[in-house]
Amino acid sequence: MKRKINVLIFASILGLIALSIIQGYLINNTYKLEKDAFIEETKRAVFRFDDQLIEIDSIYEIVGEEMVDRIIDYKLGRLEKRKFLNEFNNITDSVNPKFIKLYQDAFRSFNLSHPVKFQKRLRAVVLLDSVFNDTLFYKPQKINSLYLLGEDFNVESAYALNNSQITNDVQRNYVENGIEKSVSIEFQVTTQDYINIDGWEKEVLRRMSGILVLSIFIFAFVLGLLYYSIKSLITQKKIADIKTDFVNNITHELKTPLATLTLATKMLRKEEIQHEPKLIDNTVQTIERQNKRLQKLIDQVLNNSLGYKEIELNKESVIITDYLNTVLDDFELSVKSKDLKLNRNFNQLHSSIRIDKFYMTTALLNILENAVKYSENNIEINIDVQVSNHLKISIEDNGIGISDKDKNQIFEKFYRAGNTEVHNVKGLGLGLYYTNQIIKAHNGNISVKSKENKGTTFNLSIPFN
Ligand code: ADP
Repeated sequence: MKRKINVLIFASILGLIALSIIQGYLINNTYKLEKDAFIEETKRAVFRFDDQLIEIDSIYEIVGEEMVDRIIDYKLGRLEKRKFLNEFNNITDSVNPKFIKLYQDAFRSFNLSHPVKFQKRLRAVVLLDSVFNDTLFYKPQKINSLYLLGEDFNVESAYALNNSQITNDVQRNYVENGIEKSVSIEFQVTTQDYINIDGWEKEVLRRMSGILVLSIFIFAFVLGLLYYSIKSLITQKKIADIKTDFVNNITHELKTPLATLTLATKMLRKEEIQHEPKLIDNTVQTIERQNKRLQKLIDQVLNNSLGYKEIELNKESVIITDYLNTVLDDFELSVKSKDLKLNRNFNQLHSSIRIDKFYMTTALLNILENAVKYSENNIEINIDVQVSNHLKISIEDNGIGISDKDKNQIFEKFYRAGNTEVHNVKGLGLGLYYTNQIIKAHNGNISVKSKENKGTTFNLSIPFN
């Protein structure tokens, strides 16, 4: 059964891990889809107003004119290719503030939910000729393209819009050595636009918040359900174990007195014993003892269903030390063990307390009997009494002790410590439960201190009123 539960816990953990991986994968995919959709949306919005920015054309014209001048200079041999881009930045710098403002205003008027930046880069300038194409400027990688206009940001983390290719045909007149001449050029300019969306992660997460909350909730729910199922399975197993233990223990406990009773009755039937009154008396005493033992066992089982609220106390006033001495005298007589040393560390007190003598005696005897049951040789029991606003009785033994793990549970119904020393001793695990209920019924408190192989101390505290 224990193996089965372990396998079940292991399988559940595996299932949970698999579930989390699948869920993580799905969330990641949704994240990617949401991100793509969001970026696509933003790109579309930019395209829409890109066409409507008429004023931007005048800026493109200025930059275009500059480019044409340089291409002509190059064609006429007045400018080297590697110097083609020199000072190009000056001209873009002068028009850029206006360019940026136009875009920013447009972004604002389109009410985009997040700040967007725009940048135009130059990728290639090719002089088209009927014979060959003469590349003036060409950068194949997107990062290596040349920053032309717009806001300055790193394009590595930006999103590329479509690149545009414009082919132009221009004719220009110029004067050389006092003679007016004309030149015509055909060229192709490739530019690439980028947008940078600040805080897109936040926006995507905001859009996914519903699905995120739902999946966290479902995960927590499954986890809770699993925890609850395994916990109740363990509890059920504990209860089943306790029941089996109880049945085994009670059968064991009943067997000995019953066997003795069978022997005793057989003995009484024997003819030779009829004339031996001493033997008859001895046998009858044995029958009485076993009878008492059986009665005690049955009482224990019957009383185990009593909670402290159901115990009806019949309180009477007793002189504390007189009462304790009677209980201890009776106990000493019943033990008959020569090894037992009972130290009564208290003087005669005249204070009295109101208790139910019958129940309180049962509670004290349960503790005292345990002290003998769970000790090996040279048993020594110390009884201390203190009187303040409570009556405090401590019963200390030098027995096998109780482990920290068991200490918290010994007052539970049917609980017995798991060590072999305890299992060699008969018991139902009901004595301390009942003792605790009796002390609680007196509005008192019982606690235990113990060290394995050193001994155990039970501390009782009972209020005077
Ligand atoms: P039982 O003695 O019938 O098993 P109890 O309820 O009286 O049941 O005690 C519960 C358990 O507490 C015992 O099985 C034993 O493991 C532990 N225990 C009680 N008293 C002592 C003690 N004085 N020394 C060591 N262990 C003890």
